[in-house]
Amino acid sequence: PAVVAAAPAGTKTHCPYCGLQCAMKISGNGAADAEVAPRQFPTNKGGLCQKGWTAAEVLRNPNRLTTPLVRRDGVLTPTTWDDALDVVASGFARARREHGADAVGIFGGGGLTNEKAYQLGKFARVALGTSNIDYNGRFCMSSAAAAGIKSFGLDRGLPFPLADIGFARAIVILGGNVAETMPPMVGHLMTAARAGGLVVADPRRTATVERAVADGGVHLQLAPGTDMLLALGMAHIAVTEGYADLDYIADRTSGFDDFWRVAGQWWPERAERVTGVPVAAMRRTVALLAASRDNGTGAYILTARGAEQHSTGTDTVSAVIGLSLLLGLCGRKGSGYGCITGQGNGQGGREHGQKADQLPGYRKIADPAARAHVAKVWGIDPDDLPGPGQSAYELLESLGRPGGPKMLMVHGANLAVSAPRAGHIVDRLASLDMLVVNDFLLSETAAMADVVLPVLQWAEEEGTMTSLEGRVLRRRQAVPVAEGARSELEVLSELAIRLGQPAERFPTDPRVVFDELRRASAGGPADYTGVTYERLDNDEAIHWPCPEVGHPGTPRMFLQRFATDDGRAKFVAVDHHGPTEPVDAEFPLVCTTGRVLTHYQSGAQTRHVKALADAAGPMFVEVNTDTAERLGIADGAQVLMTSRRGSATAAARCVDSLRPDTVFLPFHYAGDQRANLLTNPALDPTSRMPEFKACAVRLEALEAV
Ligand code: SF4
Repeated sequence: PAVVAAAPAGTKTHCPYCGLQCAMKISGNGAADAEVAPRQFPTNKGGLCQKGWTAAEVLRNPNRLTTPLVRRDGVLTPTTWDDALDVVASGFARARREHGADAVGIFGGGGLTNEKAYQLGKFARVALGTSNIDYNGRFCMSSAAAAGIKSFGLDRGLPFPLADIGFARAIVILGGNVAETMPPMVGHLMTAARAGGLVVADPRRTATVERAVADGGVHLQLAPGTDMLLALGMAHIAVTEGYADLDYIADRTSGFDDFWRVAGQWWPERAERVTGVPVAAMRRTVALLAASRDNGTGAYILTARGAEQHSTGTDTVSAVIGLSLLLGLCGRKGSGYGCITGQGNGQGGREHGQKADQLPGYRKIADPAARAHVAKVWGIDPDDLPGPGQSAYELLESLGRPGGPKMLMVHGANLAVSAPRAGHIVDRLASLDMLVVNDFLLSETAAMADVVLPVLQWAEEEGTMTSLEGRVLRRRQAVPVAEGARSELEVLSELAIRLGQPAERFPTDPRVVFDELRRASAGGPADYTGVTYERLDNDEAIHWPCPEVGHPGTPRMFLQRFATDDGRAKFVAVDHHGPTEPVDAEFPLVCTTGRVLTHYQSGAQTRHVKALADAAGPMFVEVNTDTAERLGIADGAQVLMTSRRGSATAAARCVDSLRPDTVFLPFHYAGDQRANLLTNPALDPTSRMPEFKACAVRLEALEAV
């Protein structure tokens, strides 16, 4: 069976939310009295944030969906599973018959278990034969993934254990506010912080910045969308002021001359003029990194969404990697570059085939050898495998249009809130012949759907997740399944059977699915062959790649060679080009978005937890005090924010911690408070990442306070 009938006491599992995947234990007899407690684990070191502590509240949410819903006469109406599945399967069949296989689309999520992500990709390509599958990780860390593949030949968010950075005396974070998004991670920053070696690049003076500067660290308060230039300016300092590791560059890298031809033009004073970061702060940052490298006390550079969610995100991370390579940090114990992956299974979610351009094992779908390998595991002809599909935003933008999908099935995503240019995407979703949403709460996207399938949530299911450090973790069932809900593996199996697939091709037991995933990944960049449930249940720490059962896994990558053809890390030559949408007289402020301490992603879960919602308070916009005064906006007043794509409202929060040219919006709120009503869907040409982090807006007071 896919799930066990009763809840074992004190079940060891991991948090349902972010990529830190804090270890926890769930006790109690069921959802009603389930209690969460933290466990000691290398990533969370016995800590949980408030989201983790309150995670059991989601299990007993009174609005939990347990009955399938089908829209009839305009109203979502309870029905049986058989009826709902028949409606979905006949919808798929009709769309395919009338418009071809690509007339159906699948949208996945970075919170799905490895097993579900794998099975979703297989379902799309084998049962539906569509190329139109992508997932919300495209909106998360895809730029860092693309840049990592370019330079290192392989992308694993952190190519070293997170605990390694706990020893470092110099850590630079570009565009990450872990003190609010992943509070237990701050424990790993404290050696650097106490040594005055924590540096944070952010337009806002965030909680993470406060932690850095409290002990003499550095705040690089750059203009939104200028991270690339900041990295190039620091690269210039590294080379011209004697901090570059010339032996490392000669021995372990390629492409320096091309990189330098561009970076050499960005002398620090020129970079200061655009970024707003003083040369002295850049110089201090480079000196801190080089000193810790030289005396062996550890030096790391990390990026997160603030640097990555731009139409130049891939090039930005390439510039940051270039700086890391100049300093000789990568592929060495005690130093490196890494990306702080955000979503719960943001790492595993990009490895198992729910991406438009990839097959399981992090293989390229256009690669004939990869297609042959995976087709053999799936028991199909490689020629029957569809080719690369559209990226997430392009897929959503094409919904209902000629040649685009007429039907979409969504798993683990709340697109009506989280997609860029959200008002437009809601229109595209509404244009579909059929929208199907798998969820356990009626998210804003589920509320629009024609069919809602009530599926299991984290502590009701078995599976595996892969954390931000590439370590595979067991998610375990800790409470009985809510009566009426089904696992997504069952949903996919039932639909596949209705579409004419043999039942054995779509098993429902996560253990069986994982064993197939291991075979499909064999020989690929993300090789899980040696990872088994038995080893994970014995608490073995296994980081992929792990090519055979006797293999210890690979906590630190690239120590001997990088995964490129010649084994060298590649410098990628990039040049600064700012946000797609410059400010002007009509839209004079830069809007950037992010998270707050007690909400997660679209807020679909955390807005239902009273303690979290109360702590977060209502939607707000941070605006510099001087800017607010100039615009006649009082602290606490309702404000209308308008971009070229739409308007949203929020209460003004007047602060001195933000640049005067910038406003900040959290993106967890719904209705007319959606930050993404404003955001710009301009795409990065490589990763297809939308430009969430910089768009031009104007603010108007709606009321006086
Ligand atoms: Fe840990 Fe993230 Fe869960 Fe907070 S939300 S407890 S940081 S995994």
